[in-house]
Amino acid sequence: MDEVRTRFAPSPTGFMHIGNLRTCLYAYLYAKKAGGKFILRIEDTDQGRLVEGAVDVIYRTLEKAGIDHDEGPDKDGGVGPYVQSERKDIYIEYAKRLVEIGGAYYCFCTKERLDTLTGEGGIKKYDKHCLNLSKDEVNARLQAGEPYVIRQNIPLEGVSEYDDLVYGHIAVPNADMEDNILIKSDGMPTYNFANVVDDHLMNITHVIRGMEYLSSTPKYNLMYDAFGWERPTYIHLPPIMKDAQRKLSKRYGDANFEDFLAKGYLPEAIVNYIALLGWSPKGNEEKLSMEQLKEQFGVDGLSKSPSIFDEPKMRWLNAEYIKAMTPSEFTQVALPYYEQSEVKGKFDYDKLSKLLIPRTEILSEIPDKINFLARFGSYDISMYEHKKMKITVALAKDILQGALPLLQQQSEWSDEALKATLSSYAEARAVKSGQVFLPLRLAITAAAVTPGGATEIAELLGKEESLARLKYSLSLLENA
Ligand code: GLU
Repeated sequence: MDEVRTRFAPSPTGFMHIGNLRTCLYAYLYAKKAGGKFILRIEDTDQGRLVEGAVDVIYRTLEKAGIDHDEGPDKDGGVGPYVQSERKDIYIEYAKRLVEIGGAYYCFCTKERLDTLTGEGGIKKYDKHCLNLSKDEVNARLQAGEPYVIRQNIPLEGVSEYDDLVYGHIAVPNADMEDNILIKSDGMPTYNFANVVDDHLMNITHVIRGMEYLSSTPKYNLMYDAFGWERPTYIHLPPIMKDAQRKLSKRYGDANFEDFLAKGYLPEAIVNYIALLGWSPKGNEEKLSMEQLKEQFGVDGLSKSPSIFDEPKMRWLNAEYIKAMTPSEFTQVALPYYEQSEVKGKFDYDKLSKLLIPRTEILSEIPDKINFLARFGSYDISMYEHKKMKITVALAKDILQGALPLLQQQSEWSDEALKATLSSYAEARAVKSGQVFLPLRLAITAAAVTPGGATEIAELLGKEESLARLKYSLSLLENA
């Protein structure tokens, strides 16, 4: 069997839609699972829509997502160029061949004439007017430099059929299809033509793309057949929805890969999550690395019903990736957030990471979770009152006064060692451990809610700072 070759063919829009990234990922996984090649092709024939720097967004996205193409504009595999605007001559050559064999024809109709066409049920359809021009007339008009397009010649009768690996048997009556433009008046091909020529010349064996192309594919197949080329295998993918009615979209600001990165999602978690949007692994494990995805991916796990993008689930998965990190790994990804927080430069970042790893879902939560560390100062001592735990301001003062000398003597200033010291202190005083830990946490943070308990935060603050804060709080309590 031929080597499996898949491709990702984005248009450079300056924006990587989550749906496109999923298409890309599936095409990549499909090729890798089969030991084949994954090709990147840039579809930039719509010159009116070109966006500065947009191709860089594509490279950057693939790199961040861990998707490694085997061939593309930057990696020649011998079937290039891999950028459609550099392939103009190739399309013209093949379009002319298609004209010669009757699969296409020159059309000189003006916009004014096209505007007068009315179709059945109000749907405008080209009426094959120029199909009837004689060869001599066509040549004369071409020679005279008249503007033209080249259109596909679709038979008026019959049905075009194929089998899609996800959607099954697709059959479209030829009468329902239009003689679409293949070469525009600027000499550029349309998607309708370029995808066929490129997929054939690049030896693509499996075409994996969004289902918006499902019903145009019979038209493309007519061209494969006319040229005598082997059709590729098709795998069309269902859309990703925001909810039951709406597609995920740029408009709702919820569809861009880089926006999710900026919100503090890890690229591995995004990729893992979108792999599950339309594909189900055989086992129960949902946290899957790229290597595992490559091993497990298969068409039989693909669904044809649209999937709903569930951000809370992606947050959960992101938290799972964070929990699997070491403090220094977490510090690397959290660094920009540490640096923009109020604690910038004030604490050992790896220790901060230890505190945050079990408590962070997405990285952008970090500043809010740690700013309290830098905000210690005067506060209202009624904060110590806790009815449920039977803590009064007087008890808190008493407990903290007794704890101070023990903490001053404490030589090993770690979470575990401090926990041991304070637990036996609570036992000796015959109070609940919470009646020691809670007042102490308030005394060294002055914050009602903090990530982490008293001893974890004490370890992070260090002995000197913890004791200074405790003494300050005792002075507030004692002067009350
Ligand atoms: N440029 C097309 C798009 O971005 C590619 C479709 C395809 O994969 O064939 O939708």
